[in-house]
Amino acid sequence: MMRATRGTVPAAAQQGLKDSWKAQGYFLPCVCVPDSDLTLATVGDEARTGAVIAALEPLSTSVMRVRLHCDRPLDFRPGQYCSVMRDDGLARSYSIASLPSEGDLELHVRRVENGRMSGWLHEGAHVGDRVTVQGPSGECFYVPGQAEQSLLLVGTGTGLAPLWGILRDALRSGHRGPIHLFHGAVRREGLYLVQEIQKLIAGHPQVTYTPAVLDEEGPVDQVLLSRLPKLAGWRAYVCGDPGLVRTLKKKIFLAGAASKEIFADAFLPAAP
Ligand SMILES: Cc1cc2nc3c(=O)[nH]c(=O)nc-3n(C[C@H](O)[C@H](O)[C@H](O)COP(=O)(O)OP(=O)(O)OC[C@H]3O[C@@H](n4cnc5c(N)ncnc54)[C@H](O)[C@@H]3O)c2cc1C
Repeated sequence: MMRATRGTVPAAAQQGLKDSWKAQGYFLPCVCVPDSDLTLATVGDEARTGAVIAALEPLSTSVMRVRLHCDRPLDFRPGQYCSVMRDDGLARSYSIASLPSEGDLELHVRRVENGRMSGWLHEGAHVGDRVTVQGPSGECFYVPGQAEQSLLLVGTGTGLAPLWGILRDALRSGHRGPIHLFHGAVRREGLYLVQEIQKLIAGHPQVTYTPAVLDEEGPVDQVLLSRLPKLAGWRAYVCGDPGLVRTLKKKIFLAGAASKEIFADAFLPAAP
């Protein structure tokens, strides 16, 4: 995020931010194409907090569960994302898998080859190390009020992180309609949290979990549409690989879901 102290920030660059931040001129520079000059200022303390790494737990060979204990509680919705910043200024976005009531922030970080932040979180970081957390941002979260609506949660890789947060938030909010979770992975070992998901859904018969391994079941978009060809009236959350998010959004729309009912987070890599 950045803050404009003069000039008009385009609305598209403020999507997903809290109203109070919008009013203070906060915006997302990565999606900002200004129409006129803007005067910029650094992000203030109201939008960031210090945090300590409270736990590092491998969930699979390539995914690390990172728990952050923030110095002050972050006002977030499960499924939104925050920016994690190291002392040297290196910053990356990660989706929030935890509920506010759980205290610590839970992130799922996939190891990217030669990845600076993910490599550090997998191999270099220690419990007790300090980082800065900025945010949250994003509109990929459960909105109470339509407890009977059918929900589709679909993601690949660590796209499961926001979906895990959204799923538990929906159940905690008393969602009664069907919830279908599809998790795509290239190989079987790419699936993670399988037992935790199965344990959760054992007590919630309205939830269906479908893991889709590329080599075995085929691409997750095909698996999804073969099971659920008609999606009129559904609300969909789509997260993970940017190419697949684009494809899925299109296919879910063509299967009947209204575009305003499709929420997506594409895990775009940081600019070089
Ligand atoms: C809104 C949002 C939410 C995100 N949420 C998550 C999350 O919950 N979990 C998670 O693991 N990641 C998430 N990401 C991605 C994350 O922000 C980082 O981009 C990722 O961890 C890689 O950072 P790095 O510093 O390790 O790699 P870098 O040092 O930035 O990149 C190293 C090299 O790998 C390439 N690269 C980077 N990412 C990828 C990729 N995905 N596929 C192939 N090549 C790549 C780069 O181009 C570069 O050549 C999210 C991104 C966004 C925008």
